Amino acid sequence: MQTHNLGYPRIGNHRELKKACEQYWAGKISANELQQTARSIRVQNWEAQKNAGIDVIPCNDFSFYDHVLDTCLMVGAIPKRYHDLLIQKQLSEVDLLFAMARGYQKDEYDITAMEMTKWFDTNYHYIVPEFSINQSFTFFSEKVINQFNEAKREGYTAKPVLLGPVSFLLLGKEKEKGFHRLDLINKLLPVYKEVIKKLDDGNVFYLQLDEPCLSLNLTEKEQQVFTNVYKELQKEFSHIHFIVAGYFECYGKNLQTAVSLPVKTLHLDLVRCPSQLDDILTNEFIQSNKQLSLGIVDGRNIWKNDFEQSLTIIKKAIAAIGKERLWIAPSCSLLHTPCDLDLETNELCLPLTVKNWMAFAKQKLDEVVTLAKLATDEPSEQALKALEENKLAIKDRNTSSLIHKPNVKSRVQHLTAKDNQRESVFAIRKQLQQELLQLPSFPTTTIGSFPQTKEVRSWRAKWKKQELTDNEYNNLLKAETEKAVRWQEEIGLDVLVHGEFERNDMVEYFGEQLAGFVFTENGWVQSYGSRCVKPPVIYGDVYRPKPMTVEWSEYAQSLTKKWMKGMLTGPVTILQWSFVRNDQPRSETCTQIALAIRDEVVDLEKAGIKIIQIDEPAIREGLPLRKENWQQYLDWAVRAFRISASGVQNSTQIHTHMCYSEFNDIIKSIADMDADVITIETSRSQMELLDAFALFKYPNDIGPGVYDIHSPRVPSKIEMMELMEKAKAVVPGEQLWVNPDCGLKTRGWDETKTALTEMVAAAKELREAVAATV
Ligand code: GLN
Ligand code: ZN
Repeated sequence: MQTHNLGYPRIGNHRELKKACEQYWAGKISANELQQTARSIRVQNWEAQKNAGIDVIPCNDFSFYDHVLDTCLMVGAIPKRYHDLLIQKQLSEVDLLFAMARGYQKDEYDITAMEMTKWFDTNYHYIVPEFSINQSFTFFSEKVINQFNEAKREGYTAKPVLLGPVSFLLLGKEKEKGFHRLDLINKLLPVYKEVIKKLDDGNVFYLQLDEPCLSLNLTEKEQQVFTNVYKELQKEFSHIHFIVAGYFECYGKNLQTAVSLPVKTLHLDLVRCPSQLDDILTNEFIQSNKQLSLGIVDGRNIWKNDFEQSLTIIKKAIAAIGKERLWIAPSCSLLHTPCDLDLETNELCLPLTVKNWMAFAKQKLDEVVTLAKLATDEPSEQALKALEENKLAIKDRNTSSLIHKPNVKSRVQHLTAKDNQRESVFAIRKQLQQELLQLPSFPTTTIGSFPQTKEVRSWRAKWKKQELTDNEYNNLLKAETEKAVRWQEEIGLDVLVHGEFERNDMVEYFGEQLAGFVFTENGWVQSYGSRCVKPPVIYGDVYRPKPMTVEWSEYAQSLTKKWMKGMLTGPVTILQWSFVRNDQPRSETCTQIALAIRDEVVDLEKAGIKIIQIDEPAIREGLPLRKENWQQYLDWAVRAFRISASGVQNSTQIHTHMCYSEFNDIIKSIADMDADVITIETSRSQMELLDAFALFKYPNDIGPGVYDIHSPRVPSKIEMMELMEKAKAVVPGEQLWVNPDCGLKTRGWDETKTALTEMVAAAKELREAVAATV
């Protein structure tokens, strides 16, 4: 039985890649120095994998930005707008890559970046390939060859990893009408063959082709393309050992296609889909000579593998097809886990007990190797010792009083339908809220945060380093909050916010105050390009030991006669942006968080806050990859939101906020959330996103964003009025609020001030126009 790895984190143990890229972009280091850093990350990664004892080590999993963008360059899918940079400016390959990823605004050029979107259900973002009707492909970037040769020079016969041709096309977008991207396969395949030919010339033996789209709902035609493509590749390169890897889900309805692909090895994600193995081990498969790669170590989470459980599965596979036909591997590329748990040495952040339940990328390699050893007939002493240690850690976790809080579990169990129901229906609530709040028509508000300036961030940094006392830090924040309140009063906003200056991040801020969370110091994961995130870790039952935001909201309300909006992050978003415990269903953890947020909502109401916003920007991204599983997720996610929102009186107004989202196919669930007001991002789509709400006759109030906060550009009053007119044409005016698209955290004060002043003026004019017609 052999071990292999599908991919290793590329950011470096200490985010060396991020730092080097950003310095390079700022002109502070040379291209040479950048390449040096990249090289040393690759060498370190190979070494780590070799030291762990992994038999077959991947190459070409490294990327300066994104592996889908690398594939665009490999096959010469370079959109026209960059051609000039290549021909006239003679940009180097890496500069071209960065131009495509980030846009190019220099000299006389102003070229936009390529679009970016989420990689399946992860928090990683890839660059979306662009295809035109006359698309042609050529073997352009030789990165994969270079990295294969580099590995060779370092003494490794590495396994190159390529994004498979079918998934590459499916993940892209047609930029013109009149064709389907999959029709390009006949033009694309020859280039893939050229690449493989060149690898073949270098005596490549194993070749991993990632085809994650095999985890999606595919049409028959799409499945047929998969079959044809791999038939051709294997025929032409019969001596190469192809490993096709799908992950993140079951192969589901594509299982037959996947299993029948004429390639040597098929990889299975047994973490997401443990039942898959039984479906595959049919007589037909047993009698073939195909191999299986058992993805048994979770590449998406930070928990220790349960060896006993894994060994049961591995032994079942051995019994069916024998060791020689099996591989042990992580479930997917380790790109989605932090690098090395050994770097976590601060017990105040991460207590030893909890650390002992965890494994990062480097530790996962050890797990893969140990599992392979334990599955042999005579495991070594060392492997057996590791098994005993593992059993102890798993048992400790299953029973730890740090994790299991009977009160929390019992509270969840005793929830009834009443707990996720507001007292009365929206129509009644709306009336009572209006009597209390006395807001004008087209009320104006913002989404919560105001500019987190350099100063604000420097105060927090100093406070963390204990260069500022709690008192000094709080006083600075209080002054900043007061300034923001005064200024909002001045320009005449109707519902004010406190500005969120005290928050580092909308999830971390709450995680730090809730029980059941820990934080790492170095647990970074690539989100996109040089941007990394350090997700909180939910390890135990979640509850709220004490109020989290009440003091700030109360203070802000005390400064003004206008209504101050309380500001919370919702349960689904907190869940979605954390590493979540895997010893109970996600829905259960989400319900626990919902109850904690509910406690906060109730306390805010008691403190006199009558408008409370519960942000849920991540609701949509939690959707399962396969449509048939959507409803089940939406049911518990919506219920969690409702639990958090339903503890208040009718007259208390609950808002929610969602960033860029397609609403069409989930609009019913959005309506089921039953927030009194929902603010959404719509300005970039010119209110098109509102159509779903209009079509559905969404009953509650809506604030369609009129101001795109993603760019420093300041919209004019006229523009915002036009957007509101568009909104009014599809949604009754009585239902509408006026607000920006999202929080203003990343903006500067100058632009913010001008834009919001214009926005308030736009709302006033709308009101006057309506008044004039009645
Ligand atoms: N209240 C948050 C803010 O204004 C919402 C951010 C978000 O939706 N991403 O920053
Ligand atoms: Zn937002």
